[in-house]
Amino acid sequence: MSIPALDISPVPRLIQLLGSDKVIIGAGVAGYATDVYRSREMPLAVVRPASVADLQDTVRLAAAAGTAIFTRGGGASYTDAYLPSVRHSILIDMGGLNRIVELNEHDGYVTVEAGITWAALKAALDATAFRTPFFGPFSGYAATVGGSISQHAISHGSSAHGISAQSVVSLDIVTANGALLRTGSAARGAAPFSRWYGPDLAGRFCGDCGGFGIKARATLSLRKRRPFAEFCSVAFPDMARLAEGLRRAALEGLDDEHFAMDAAMSRGQIKRQARISKFATAKALVGSSRSPWQGLKQLVRSGWGGSRALGAAAYSAHFIVEGDESREARAKARRLLRVLIAAGGAVIPNTVPAMVRSMPFAPLFNTLGPDGERWVPLHGYLPHSNVPEFDTAVRDFFARRTADMERLGIWYGGMFMAMGSSAFLYELAFYWPGAHTPYHRHTLPEGYLGALPQRPNDAETAAFIDTMKRDLVALYGAHGAIHFQLGKAYPFGSVIAAESLELLRAIKTAVDPQGLMNPGALEL
Ligand SMILES: Cc1cc2nc3c(=O)[nH]c(=O)nc-3n(C[C@H](O)[C@H](O)[C@H](O)COP(=O)(O)OP(=O)(O)OC[C@H]3O[C@@H](n4cnc5c(N)ncnc54)[C@H](O)[C@@H]3O)c2cc1C
Repeated sequence: MSIPALDISPVPRLIQLLGSDKVIIGAGVAGYATDVYRSREMPLAVVRPASVADLQDTVRLAAAAGTAIFTRGGGASYTDAYLPSVRHSILIDMGGLNRIVELNEHDGYVTVEAGITWAALKAALDATAFRTPFFGPFSGYAATVGGSISQHAISHGSSAHGISAQSVVSLDIVTANGALLRTGSAARGAAPFSRWYGPDLAGRFCGDCGGFGIKARATLSLRKRRPFAEFCSVAFPDMARLAEGLRRAALEGLDDEHFAMDAAMSRGQIKRQARISKFATAKALVGSSRSPWQGLKQLVRSGWGGSRALGAAAYSAHFIVEGDESREARAKARRLLRVLIAAGGAVIPNTVPAMVRSMPFAPLFNTLGPDGERWVPLHGYLPHSNVPEFDTAVRDFFARRTADMERLGIWYGGMFMAMGSSAFLYELAFYWPGAHTPYHRHTLPEGYLGALPQRPNDAETAAFIDTMKRDLVALYGAHGAIHFQLGKAYPFGSVIAAESLELLRAIKTAVDPQGLMNPGALEL
């Protein structure tokens, strides 16, 4: 379709082209244009394409009108990543592009539309003997394949198979002129069976935060699901021993996934489970006897409530180990525990990783604290050798702010992971009293949100959180950390070397000459 250049809002044309049911205007846009942390500019409209052709037409129309384009997957990020940063924009919601295009068990890949959630993809693959190697972030109930690849998501399967981008075989990208660019073997019109064909084109679009184009389809590799899993949980008395345990475990390469928490984070989860369990009970009572809420209730009770040792541990680390046979999984778990104990860990009940494996994706209750507090995480990846010094600096950072944080009712917890053998994820999540936003109303079940304590916003607290986030990002930087999920919240263009920046800017100009795709992302 060829569209003449327009110098007016593209919204009437979009309505004409797609139908009014696929174009949201007015008050309805706020729920889409607010992320977990905040909102910025409101878009002229939220557009929900139902096909790749719709998506291409939408991009052509917006580009012809000089309108900025922001793309939202599941909207589960919190780094301003999909938030409009300019006044004249449209927000494309990918939720309508959620089909499985090809499940090719013989050639070992699955092609999906990029707006499919990880939970939906897993549900479809559970009917086969396969899974994708990386199979989603904890937010995979809402988070999409396209959004996760765009910001280097990690978690389920990451110990064994790396980040989201490492499971990608091929991508179909809609660039700013509406063309469909294909990568790997698909670039020459062949099936999307190989990523490796000349320079790695798919890699240019992984972690781009949607600034280089919109992922319309993604092909991911498949691997056989291992039928047996063992779970290990270990307590550590301090960060030094936790970090050493995770480092040594990563070098062994025995687990499929793992995560670790400090005591504040564990206690917050234990407290939240009581609320979720109560809510799930009420839901199950009005649902069928096999209601998923019933399952959720049992899981959170047995998972978080099952371990007193968890609440008492200064740090706890949780591992999922897989095997083709039960004895293989058990042997790996025994070996892993030996490594963790040698690093200073003590075995505690393993209910949390068992719960996570039974229900890897749950509604996003964690977007609020256990008492309905606001929540936002911040993270950095460090080389293992920088962790002790950074941890001391973080303690010092909070010690200097304790009085203000207590006065304003702000608290924090930590989550940790080894990423491959060489990097350590140090994530901090903040909780503070504040009003729920259109994001929470858009995302959380009404009954759950309504039962939480409601608190007004406080300007001093909000400003304190903003400043603390900014200062912590600087602290991460001073200790050599890098970040995933860059969005518009972490520095990138301003901190990378001139040669790297020049090349990335040249790529951006080639695929998006008017700079309309997610302006502000990556500081490009
Ligand atoms: C409760 C909770 C748990 C979380 N757990 C994890 C975790 O375990 N691991 C982790 O890494 N993160 C986690 N996150 C952060 C976030 O959910 C993930 O990074 C997730 O992958 C984001 O996917 P999304 O579809 O929601 O993307 P969005 O938030 O919608 O978008 C993210 C970025 O991708 C771009 N984008 C979206 N779709 C496309 C597309 N089709 N083409 C091009 N660009 C696109 C957007 O413009 C934006 O820049 C969590 C968040 C929450 C709220």
